[in-house]
Amino acid sequence: MGVPAQTNPAEAVADGDTADARTSTVVDVKGLTMHYGDIEVLHGIDLAIARGDVCAIVGPNGAGKTTLVEILEGYRTRTGGAVTVLGLDPSHPTRAWRSRIGIVLQSCEMPAALTVWELVERFAGYYPQPRPVAETLELVGLSDRPNARAGTLSGGQQRRLDVAMALVGDPDVLFLDEPTTGFDPSARHQAWDVITGLRELGKTIVLTTHYMEEAEALADRVIVVVAGRVVADGTPETLGGRDHAPSTIRFRLPEGVNVAQLPSSHNGGFVADRDHVTMTNADLDDLEALIAWCRENTRPLPGLTVERPSLEDVYLELTGGVR
Ligand code: ATP
Repeated sequence: MGVPAQTNPAEAVADGDTADARTSTVVDVKGLTMHYGDIEVLHGIDLAIARGDVCAIVGPNGAGKTTLVEILEGYRTRTGGAVTVLGLDPSHPTRAWRSRIGIVLQSCEMPAALTVWELVERFAGYYPQPRPVAETLELVGLSDRPNARAGTLSGGQQRRLDVAMALVGDPDVLFLDEPTTGFDPSARHQAWDVITGLRELGKTIVLTTHYMEEAEALADRVIVVVAGRVVADGTPETLGGRDHAPSTIRFRLPEGVNVAQLPSSHNGGFVADRDHVTMTNADLDDLEALIAWCRENTRPLPGLTVERPSLEDVYLELTGGVR
């Protein structure tokens, strides 16, 4: 997450644009195609993002995520299809429309000698109705560092400043490109807190990420793009049929018990793996049979877990194992 580009902020002043801010669909994409030269990299993308949604766009390197998001931001002109963001075609942006879009890119250069307050205040001056600087710093957790020079901030604080600069125009839609790439776990969780706070303000957020735990922690919607096509679109809980997928039952083999003594399954049986036994592809009948066996034999099942596939498992399945 880097430059809070906000497009060209100097242009971000009201110009009477009247794009409808009240419709519930904020991003609407139909049959979107994109060519670079002779090569088509987006092959007819359809998607809609509702107001207030946090939507994660995920997919392997080169899938077309950045191209898609840059088209939505008004930075790249599509080859075909129909796109509206906040009711306006981003390939014909107006100043007022730009002032309603916040953008945080992957990398940035900032004047190192300016303080946090000075930088955010400077950006505030570009917008028709900026959020107060103090409030913006509070939102991103930088209110204790207003006088720190940008060049002295840690990586995590720098990203907070990026978000502050994207937020000070009080945008309706925020695009975050890989917001936590390179963060340590603690900085990542702090960034998630900031993004969760933005969701509570009702902002529509579109983020790209390579971390499924990030998509799971933040997103209402996950859209999986593979080789220029949407291959799955759903909530983190239901993506790719995850909520109906078979489970994996796992526990430590009780002392004196042989795997062959455990109840077998129509889907297969238990497989011993060092001191654990595992049944993949298990369903409720398998679990019931196992519990009945425990009762009959008055045996515990130490360390018993029953798990559905993780979002990462589903993602890898959808992408053919490619991260
Ligand atoms: P990553 O996860 O690596 O950031 P991505 O999903 O964002 O990848 P894009 O950057 O959108 O993917 O790239 C999609 C395809 O378009 C890739 O094959 C890439 O090489 C190609 N591409 C991207 N930008 C250009 C460009 N300016 N000119 C030509 N080809 C490009």
